[in-house]
Amino acid sequence: MKHRRYVRWVLLAMGLIAVIGLSGMNVYSLYALHENKVQNSVEKQKRQLLEYTNQVRSRFRHPVRNLWQLDMEVIQSSLDSPSHVHSGLLEIIDTSSRDSVFSEIYFSLPDCAACDYLGAIIWKYHRQRGQFVETTEYNQLVSDGLAMARTRMNALVHEYRWSTRVIFDTQNSMTIALINPANREIIGYLLFVINRDYLINSYMGPKLLDTFGEDHESGIVVWLHDWTKNEVLATTSPNVPYSYRSVDFIQNFPDLLNDWNLKAKFTSNPAITASQATLKRNLIVLGGAVFLLLSTFIFMFITAQRERSLAQRQSLFLANVTHELKTPLSVILAAGENLSDGRVSDPSRLKSYGSHIYNESLRLHNMIDRLLDVARINTQSVSIHKKKTDLAGLAHNYLQKKQGYFESYHVNVHFESEKDLPEILVDQHDMYSILDNLIDNAVKYSPDEKFLGIRIFKNGSRICLAIADQGIGISKESQKYIFDKFYRAEEAMTAHTRGHGLGLSIVKDLIHRNGGIVSVHSVPNKGSEFVLEFPIVYHFDNEATKNAQNNINQQEARHVS
Ligand code: ADP
Repeated sequence: MKHRRYVRWVLLAMGLIAVIGLSGMNVYSLYALHENKVQNSVEKQKRQLLEYTNQVRSRFRHPVRNLWQLDMEVIQSSLDSPSHVHSGLLEIIDTSSRDSVFSEIYFSLPDCAACDYLGAIIWKYHRQRGQFVETTEYNQLVSDGLAMARTRMNALVHEYRWSTRVIFDTQNSMTIALINPANREIIGYLLFVINRDYLINSYMGPKLLDTFGEDHESGIVVWLHDWTKNEVLATTSPNVPYSYRSVDFIQNFPDLLNDWNLKAKFTSNPAITASQATLKRNLIVLGGAVFLLLSTFIFMFITAQRERSLAQRQSLFLANVTHELKTPLSVILAAGENLSDGRVSDPSRLKSYGSHIYNESLRLHNMIDRLLDVARINTQSVSIHKKKTDLAGLAHNYLQKKQGYFESYHVNVHFESEKDLPEILVDQHDMYSILDNLIDNAVKYSPDEKFLGIRIFKNGSRICLAIADQGIGISKESQKYIFDKFYRAEEAMTAHTRGHGLGLSIVKDLIHRNGGIVSVHSVPNKGSEFVLEFPIVYHFDNEATKNAQNNINQQEARHVS
């Protein structure tokens, strides 16, 4: 049986572990799925950022996309004067000059004197005339752009196989080196000055919004940032302030706009938010289910433990009761046998046999009474006859009646009561049973000096009766259980006192039925005090106040239950 009980618990625990394991795996897969979604979304946004920079680059190359198709030998031969420049080249230059992304276009021969000093003659494209004209008026940026292109090309040209090469000077200019691939000779440099205002405000800014949209839809905030000046040039979300701490990813432009880059902060888009909400919902449901399962398991475990200990106490009680019934019966039997045989004639022995029979029968009677009480309370068949009662008077009468009992047990009784206490509504027979049980215990569990203190006093809307002794006391742990059926504290067992663990459970039930409550205060080896509290009955003259009393009584009843 014991073995089976263990197997049952082990199987239950295994089932629980399996359910928790499965739930854990489920949560993990949900989490992984969500993470995967977030990762995919971020990867996609990173690809979009790269694509954006490539499109910006293509934007500059677009007007000059046909340049490589020109025959560079023919172009070279047309470059002896600005007015003779080959019409094919001029056509491309003219198209580019109409593109707002460029503000000016210059041409320099390969010797590039303008690279070395400002004021050297270079050619500038004159759109109205549709041709190049010589000029010495250009700024340092033009000279720097040409010089940069010349330096790069000088290093490159010997191994270069194509006819054009584009070189950017940050966001200032784009220079195209024209090369004769036949002899790998540079034939000149075309420099396009970049129109910064147009580029930012009319192209890159609007394109940022087109590509990424507002952050609450796309789940990304992008800033076009000049890192040399720490200046935001354009953004997808003007209401989100830029801070380097909030940047999650940086995308540079490939070989152009070197001082600028795209800075991105990944937020949540609607899909991610929905997935997050689903994950949260699932986590709550699974957490709740696991919590419920665990609580059920713990509850079952505790109840099973309690039932087991009750069963143990019950079987102990049965053994006790049998013993307790047999002992007085054997005494009565032996005494009765001796008397019936007529062997005893001495009057003093006759009296002693008679008192044995009387005392043991009384013990049996009391015990059976108590068992019947429990049975009646269990089947809810106790009828109550409540009466207005003066508790102090009742207790006083009771003590008077028990005078002989106290004397035979040498009990030092101390009674005190406040004067003119209001009445309470109780069944007086129940009150006697309650006092019987509590006073019996006080005497029984006081091995040496037997002291019994009874106090009656008013506490707010209640009348209290406290029964104190200076006996063996009850440990804090046992105090939780002494009102349970069949419970006997360790101290009671070691003190070898007789008992069945029923008295206090009867007391508690009777007190509750009479609208009262009971509490215990006890210190081991010092003594115990049981305090009973009952609601006061008020006297009223009219209906309204009677109702008020009913309310008070109802509240009291609720408080008690
Ligand atoms: P019992 O028949 O064992 O006295 P009760 O239900 O009356 O059963 O009491 C339950 C347990 O509470 C007792 O076994 C004892 O351990 C403890 N107890 C009750 N009253 C006292 C008291 N006055 N002093 C010490 N222990 C007490």
